[in-house]
Amino acid sequence: MTAGLLAANLIGHGEVVELLQHELAKPSHAYLFVGPAGVGKATVARDFARLLLCPIGGDHVEPCRSCRRIASGNHPDLVLVEPEGRASLGVETARSVVSQAVLSPVESERRVFLAEDAGTMTEQAANALLKTLEEPTAAVTFLLVSESEDDFPLTLASRCRVVRFGRVPEDELTAELERQGLAAEEARVLALVSGGRPGLALQLGSEPHVADLRQAWLNLPSRLSGRPGDSFRLAEEMIALIEPLASELAGTVAGGAEQRDRAKRRATQSLLASGLEILASFYLDSASLQLGGPIRNRDVALSELARVSPAVAVNAANLILDAVVDLIGNLRPLPLLAALFTSLE
Ligand SMILES: [Zn+2]
Repeated sequence: MTAGLLAANLIGHGEVVELLQHELAKPSHAYLFVGPAGVGKATVARDFARLLLCPIGGDHVEPCRSCRRIASGNHPDLVLVEPEGRASLGVETARSVVSQAVLSPVESERRVFLAEDAGTMTEQAANALLKTLEEPTAAVTFLLVSESEDDFPLTLASRCRVVRFGRVPEDELTAELERQGLAAEEARVLALVSGGRPGLALQLGSEPHVADLRQAWLNLPSRLSGRPGDSFRLAEEMIALIEPLASELAGTVAGGAEQRDRAKRRATQSLLASGLEILASFYLDSASLQLGGPIRNRDVALSELARVSPAVAVNAANLILDAVVDLIGNLRPLPLLAALFTSLE
């Protein structure tokens, strides 16, 4: 995506792209991009930054000098705001942003500050940024990317234009993956395993064993004993299963060890969330089958699905989907998964 209009190759998010395309004419001073991991928020944010800095708003076929400099990662007016420590974006970083925000742009009409891990911002950091967001200069645009606006104090979130990203519907994602050349069955499995996250689906597309991952989560109910020791071992096993995949996905990220560590944590989180959603879909199928509704995982034996009562199945699906929410931002998924598996039947 280095020429032409905003996010030209993006899958899904048509309304968001249209909205941002309009915003380019008169950009707000701060945007908050929120939505689940892996749906394409950072991709869109990066490309929006490019167009904010491009002297002709991306109205070209071949990339201009400004767009080329963005692509190679050395545009002087694009400031990447990144956590300096391992996990959070601290107050020193925020203060440095505040002092840079008063400087004039070097080449473009404005400076863009892009924080792809803005949700890790500490409260002190958010407070330090507040004044800059309250009294913005015309020449600055902030792009903050996070999973939820709840990651920020209300005072900060309320000063940003909030742009919401949803999951891409499974059918749309499957169709798009097929259009990009994947076989129908492969596209369907990727759409399922990625849980409507195109970024994850595309990354997983080049990985073998993706179908195995789905199978492992669908087999899990038959292996649950309710005993904490067994649950703990199963949780270890499921995390170990995605580890090589998460490492592989993180390995493709540019930057140093710290960036790769964060990318690996994000990939682990997305893969576990997708796995849990597949597990929840097993129980939803179980309830649906017994209540005469449609089934999503048609390759699971009906006898397996009928093993628990509909009420138990619905309860299990709810517990699992709650765990998906708890997983966000949780740095220790193992105890969370073990506790969940113990509570399932
Ligand atoms: Zn350009």
